This record gives sequence, C-alpha cells and structure tokens, in this order.
Amino acid sequence: TATTNAAPTRNQYLSNYKHVVAVASGKGGVGKSTVALNVACALKNMGKTVSMFDADIYGPSLPLMIGERTGKAKVVGNQIMPMSRYGIEYMSIGNLVDEGTSVIWRGPMVHQAIDQILRDTVWPGGDYMIIDLPPGTGDVQITLSQVTALSGAVIVCTPQDVALIDAMKAISMFQKVNVPIIGMIENMSSFICPKCSAETPIFGVGGCEKESNLNDFNFLGRIPIDLETRVCGDNGKPMLKKITPRPAPKDIRFGNKLT
Ligand code: ADP
Repeated sequence: TATTNAAPTRNQYLSNYKHVVAVASGKGGVGKSTVALNVACALKNMGKTVSMFDADIYGPSLPLMIGERTGKAKVVGNQIMPMSRYGIEYMSIGNLVDEGTSVIWRGPMVHQAIDQILRDTVWPGGDYMIIDLPPGTGDVQITLSQVTALSGAVIVCTPQDVALIDAMKAISMFQKVNVPIIGMIENMSSFICPKCSAETPIFGVGGCEKESNLNDFNFLGRIPIDLETRVCGDNGKPMLKKITPRPAPKDIRFGNKLT
C-alpha cells in the first residue's frame, strides 16, 4: 500500500497494551518460544487480557506451539484479523505465509514486515502483549525497540557457558536501547528422572542465577528439562493453557424415581 514505506514514528505501535514484554534469548533452541507462550497462558490464567506477537520472522514457532499450524489469518483490505486460541489473540508471520516457505529477507525488508504486521493487525489491546523475539541481536530487536515502547525484556537462557555468553550480548543490546531487563529464566536446568528422581544436570545448573547475581538482574527461576513440556509444545497444547474444569457428572440417582 502507499503507506507501507512511511517511516514509523517512535513508540507508535501497541500503545493499547498496559505492558509490552519481549521474551528474548542470545541463542536459538533454548526454549524462548516455549517460555513466551507459557508466560502468556499463565497471565491469562491470572485473569489478565493477553495478546502475543511472534516476531520470529525466520523461524516462527507460535503457530505450531499454539496448535494452529496451518491456520491463516483473515486479511480484510489493509487489516489483519489476529488469530485467537486459548483466549490469547496472536499473530505470527507463520499465519500469513505458508509453512515451509523460507523467508530470506534482508534487514530493511524485515523491518518493513514487522512494521506492517504490527500496524495492520487489529490488536484488541489489554493488559499484556508478549513478544516472542528471534534469537540474537538483529534487525527485529532493533526495529521493535524503536516502533514500540517495550516495558522490558525477559531473557531465557540455558545454564551452559555458550548460551550465557550470547545471553549477555542480548542483555547489553537491550541496555543500549534503554529497554529494562525484567530478569533471567534458566530453562532446561537439570533433568529429574521420573523413574528414580535422580537429578542430572544435562546442560549444567545454576549458571543463569550466578550471572544474574553478578550483574544485578532479577533471577526469575528455573525450569527443568521435562518431557511433557516438549510434548505439549509439539502438540500445540501449551503446558499452562487454561484448564476448563469438566462439568460435574449429573447425579442420575436423583433423576430416577425409585419405585
Ligand atoms: P527457542 O524459541 O529458544 O528456539 P523453543 O521454545 O522452540 O526454543 O524450544 C526448542 C525445543 O525445546 C522445543 O521442541 C521445545 O518443546 C523444547 N523445550 C523447551 N523448553 C523445554 C524444557 N524445559 N524441557 C523439555 N523440552 C523443552
């Protein structure tokens, strides 16, 4: 459209949300998307209104994890209607282009894509917008910190040194663009055998807490390596999705007249 190339004004988008929280990581595969989605579900369970934006243009995983792998967003004129599942309104590039289509955009195109999705989606607004960022410190992070007023960033990391080094780079990028660090989450922290309860620190344990203390960040907690977490992600049924209580079975004894 004619307006597509217009430079966005600073902090222009998502202003109808009270809090805009970015979930970030230095490396890929550390569980950032899993944490982002489950944080959204947990907030939803607390009675908050929550939306999500999957800003991972190159490897969107929200459609799979939220169980709408092939679902496509409705586009009406210039407006994109957000997807909705588990009471969360969300949008991902995966709901606009076909799965398997590789996105090979250069920086300015990524900027434009993020800008257009944020602008054209009819966001309902509310308490929280959770943004699942791509890993690293690239164009998307910079674009988002320019076009939205991020309340803060949650950093997801595994306890390994290689992951921690990259996480610190992501942290320093946010600090440079004045985005507060809400805290660090250590994911894949140890494995507790469901059979014998023995704890095996596959990627180590405690590294994130140590790093948080050293740098004066909040340490938000540890999530162990857990089979159900992985299965839930692959099946599109997030661990912390709202559990609707089953209706109590009708007590048929009182319905049947005793003769
Ligand atoms: P990222 O967004 O950092 O690339 P994902 O959230 O996509 O990472 O997670 C990568 C894979 O690891 C997924 O298959 C996910 O289900 C799995 N996973 C994430 N966290 C855990 C965990 N705590 N225990 C077991 N599997 C996990």
